[in-house]
Amino acid sequence: MSVFESIEKGPPIEVFALNRAFLEDNFPQKTNLGVGAYRDENGKPWVLPVVRSTEIKIASDESINHEYLPVCGTDLYTTAATKLLLGEDSPAIAEKRAFGVQTISGTGALRLGADFLAKKLGKKVFYYSEPTWENHRAVFLAAGFETGKTYRYWDQEKRGIDFDGFVEDLNGAPEGAVIILHTCAHNPTGCDPTQEQWKKLAEVISSKKLFPFFDSAYQGFASGDPDKDAWAVRYFVENKFELLAAQSFAKNFGLYCERVGNLTIVQKSEATAAAIHSQLTLLVRMTYSNPPAYGSRIVSKVLNDPKLRQEWMDCIQLMSQRIISMRKQLRDHLIALKTPGNWDHITQQIGMFSYTGLNEKQVKFLIEEYHIYLLKSGRINMCGLNPNNIEYVAKGIYDAVTKVDNTV
Ligand code: PMP
Repeated sequence: MSVFESIEKGPPIEVFALNRAFLEDNFPQKTNLGVGAYRDENGKPWVLPVVRSTEIKIASDESINHEYLPVCGTDLYTTAATKLLLGEDSPAIAEKRAFGVQTISGTGALRLGADFLAKKLGKKVFYYSEPTWENHRAVFLAAGFETGKTYRYWDQEKRGIDFDGFVEDLNGAPEGAVIILHTCAHNPTGCDPTQEQWKKLAEVISSKKLFPFFDSAYQGFASGDPDKDAWAVRYFVENKFELLAAQSFAKNFGLYCERVGNLTIVQKSEATAAAIHSQLTLLVRMTYSNPPAYGSRIVSKVLNDPKLRQEWMDCIQLMSQRIISMRKQLRDHLIALKTPGNWDHITQQIGMFSYTGLNEKQVKFLIEEYHIYLLKSGRINMCGLNPNNIEYVAKGIYDAVTKVDNTV
């Protein structure tokens, strides 16, 4: 008898299971709208030209070696990442009350932040949007939080934000609860609060003494302008909130597998910085000891060089514009086909994903009959669309809406 006899098989991770099913499918027009990664207009993964040229420079730079990095990453990298989020001239950085720690991509930043809040501050309760990225809850519970609650976010009827529900649920949260907020390009709905709504949220979070934890997985990728996409975090920082913010360079640099991230900590004053830094150092040390260098070298070089940075800005413009154009084309095709319902939300939503409003039965129909793969929540990755498959996808959605019972 094996000592492992009692281990039960865990449930599959939907997005990866979907990807495997897609790869095993031999249907010629199969389409992958599941996984959250950018695809170019030929449906291929895209290495940003500025990333490629920087990699080549790094590979041939004899002065670079493979010694360990500092436990919290290099200052050059963490300062560039933190400035990208909070702004080049952020007073919080200048006053040394905001600093960054290199992390294992966005997930690692969320986990390190959650570990810190649970283990060092004794935080127990967190709130996340309903729906949210499927990993938020698991990451926070694994870090030691005891209670994960949802706040209302999506209004299925309106196909937009249920703002009154959102505010009401925050108002009902206990003092000190950690509130996970998507900085921009909310995953999976593609719907972000307006600036006026963010101001109201800040008011509630302040008056109820809640603790904001921003998740920035798509900065620059949403509007094409990293400053615009960071507006919400910057508003909170300007208004003297203490907060944490997780950053990922997976999407906006296309560095998915290199796991480049940053956790920013914003405090009232510099007085707490040294203690917090030392505790984060210990948490990293006991988890994976030191961060990987490859991806962070690329990000650091690009962000710290004005010419390379401009090339990167051009790349994120191109990616975000392609997505915006696909949104418009999908909506136009659905309208041309006279697909029942209102499809304005496709163009109103922002970022990589669209929450189509298709139900589980319709999603099953699309996978089985059209070999179009999407999450059962109806979320599609807009980057999976291109001029070669958009008509096919629109036709599939038309059939799903007209042939499949739309009651859930
Ligand atoms: N947060 C959100 C909202 C995400 O969508 C993702 C990626 N899908 C992440 C965090 C984590 O991304 P990564 O760990 O790949 O940087």
